Amino acid sequence: MAENPNIAIVVIDSFRPDHLSMFGYKKETDANLKRIAKGSAVFTRQFSVANGTAPAVTTILSGLLPTTHRVYHQFPYTKPEEYEAAEKIAFWLPSFLKEKGYETMCFDWLGEWFARGFDTYKESEKETDLLFVPTKETMDMAISTIKSSRKPFFAFMHLWDTHFPFPNTPYVGSGKDESAKILASIKDEKQRTYVRGRMDKAKLYTVQDVVNKYDETLRIIDREVGRLYDFLKKERLLDNTIFAVLGDHGDVINEHGIYFANCGMFDEAIRAPMMMKLPGIDGKITNEMVQNVDIVPTILDFMGERKKVDGKSLIPLIKTGKKVRSEVTLVDAFASDVKCIRTETKKLIFAKDGFCNMCKSSHHHGYEEYDLSKDPNESKNVFSGESELSRFLK
Ligand SMILES: [Zn+2]
Repeated sequence: MAENPNIAIVVIDSFRPDHLSMFGYKKETDANLKRIAKGSAVFTRQFSVANGTAPAVTTILSGLLPTTHRVYHQFPYTKPEEYEAAEKIAFWLPSFLKEKGYETMCFDWLGEWFARGFDTYKESEKETDLLFVPTKETMDMAISTIKSSRKPFFAFMHLWDTHFPFPNTPYVGSGKDESAKILASIKDEKQRTYVRGRMDKAKLYTVQDVVNKYDETLRIIDREVGRLYDFLKKERLLDNTIFAVLGDHGDVINEHGIYFANCGMFDEAIRAPMMMKLPGIDGKITNEMVQNVDIVPTILDFMGERKKVDGKSLIPLIKTGKKVRSEVTLVDAFASDVKCIRTETKKLIFAKDGFCNMCKSSHHHGYEEYDLSKDPNESKNVFSGESELSRFLK
């Protein structure tokens, strides 16, 4: 345990575990992450509190569930009352650390309440009209700001290259066009229009091209995260740094009739990799379920601090393998009102109003229940009436 460890949190947007060779992917996209994973706690089953960035990152920085911080929807679908609630969030890690004497820095473009408590909050050094700042530039800013810091630091880096339509990545595609086949498989007309627009935006017209480009973005991000890690090592900062790398949510490429968007409450959209290196604690790989709401409680526990937050410290799990949670609850950041509870073996989704603001169709209808032990791909709705999970969800 250390009183004031440095803290570096790297959030990779739309980050899928099944595209990493350390979890069995056929291509190596993660040479550096594999290296960082040695000695880190690696969570194969980390779930977000939402499929969208605003509620997820609010949780990562507060240790509070959406039902407590009351930010449910991703921009631009965030409601005025959610903005208001966000300004009053009771615990906010950057403010807490700043008060403790940390230099706090964030490299992201979200702004709004996310900027609270940060000494430095920067998207780019220059005026930019880019959709996303390239990861290399984000890391350059982070490294130079850490280098000039004379205090313990809290650095939060949000990397966007993995986000559709991957504008910073050189891969141009194979030139093949399977759009007619893809569109013919989509029943809903609104969804068809949306997917057509997505393909045009990325100028990619086959699933394989999207996969290839996504993998290319992962390699770029992997290289840059490796560069940050090596910088901390060279500066002799790493041994006293909590170093966490995680996805804020997953992404759907072509599953469940959803294409190239993080829509819906299926595992592809809500599950993301996470690894965390805690100074002096030897981490291993674990398949136990964890959630991004657990990050703040883990940091506080490590620092010997007690605060009222919703998540659970992962230190007992990291040290002894002891299970810390048996379920995760989530909200759909794009739909009007869709909630979800997932245990080891079951998932229940309740769509009170399933309208998806992003693609203008619906991915969920009423109650849906999936038996994950028999149907891990969530293909068959087995909801047959009130279940014990539906009471919990209410
Ligand atoms: Zn949608």
